[in-house]
Amino acid sequence: MKKLEQLISPNNLVGLFDNIHAMIALVESDGVLISWNHAFEEIKGPSSAITTLENIFSEKDKHLVISKLVFASHENWIAEVVLNEADSVICDCTLIPLANGNSLFIAEKIDSDPAIQQTIERLNRQVKMFKIESESAKKIARNKQIEMESVMIQAREVAQIDALTFLLNRRMIVRELQDEVLRAERYKNTLSISIIDVDKFKLVNDTYGHPVGDEVLKQVACQLRDHIRHPDSVGRYGGEEFLILLPNSDAKAATEQAIRLGKEIREMVVAIKEYKLKVTVSIGIAQLKLGVDTWDTLLNRADNAMYEAKNKGRDCWVVAN
Ligand code: GH3
Ligand code: MG
Ligand code: MG
Repeated sequence: MKKLEQLISPNNLVGLFDNIHAMIALVESDGVLISWNHAFEEIKGPSSAITTLENIFSEKDKHLVISKLVFASHENWIAEVVLNEADSVICDCTLIPLANGNSLFIAEKIDSDPAIQQTIERLNRQVKMFKIESESAKKIARNKQIEMESVMIQAREVAQIDALTFLLNRRMIVRELQDEVLRAERYKNTLSISIIDVDKFKLVNDTYGHPVGDEVLKQVACQLRDHIRHPDSVGRYGGEEFLILLPNSDAKAATEQAIRLGKEIREMVVAIKEYKLKVTVSIGIAQLKLGVDTWDTLLNRADNAMYEAKNKGRDCWVVAN
């Protein structure tokens, strides 16, 4: 079978080029137009304003044809060909390098089927919706995470903080005591503790009622929190008992603190309802005996000292032997 080009005469070619739908132009290596067919003329227009191939393309696609010319690439590419100020068509373009250095440019319009166009638009809308939905899903997830973190923080606080006084609860202050004893043993540091018990507190409850008793406890807790120094810590050890830890402090320093706290509480007036109440505290102090005490023997010694203070008549302090 003979090849097509062997069967077509130069005369046939003239008619062929002019009747073909594709735009065909012969261009120099720099894109200058040499000759073109009828379909190309329709785009280019009869004016001589367009003299190079790149000028039939929209601004964004001009560089494409320039690079195709430079690299003499055989690959097809899709580009927007400008018909006039208001109209353009999308074309499938190709450049065929010829032996003499020129190139043959061929471009075919890509017909846009309205049904396909509609489908593309619908898909674009769906993509947009999906993006919006995924953004809002992300936002909801972020908010949920923040919510969860704050619930976790609250849960941790509930587990660690006494609800009435907002001091560390018994579990936490004892855990801190255990840590401090370990630290003191490891670094051979001094450590003292004080147990503070409100005197005759049952009488407050019995006389004025439980809610008034609660208010007294809150105010005592406030005084303790406000009058201890870093790195001391205080917790609610029992109903009307508090525990203070004094790292790096001996019994003398703890006694000075006890005197100060005893005075603050003695001078405090709890004004509630029509009452103005005053309370006192008894304080038992113990200094850790390194290599001898454990956290619970230390606690026992402080507790015993506190009971000695009760026996001495209350509103005073005792240091454990
Ligand atoms: P003492 O001077 O010997 O310590 O006498 P006291 O009355 O303080 O000691 P006691 O142990 O007999 O009474 C302590 C009271 O503290 C009994 C209990 O009902 C009360 N209490 C314990 N926890 C709370 C609380 O959270 N709120 C109130 N209002 N009272 C409490
Ligand atoms: Mg008590
Ligand atoms: Mg008491």
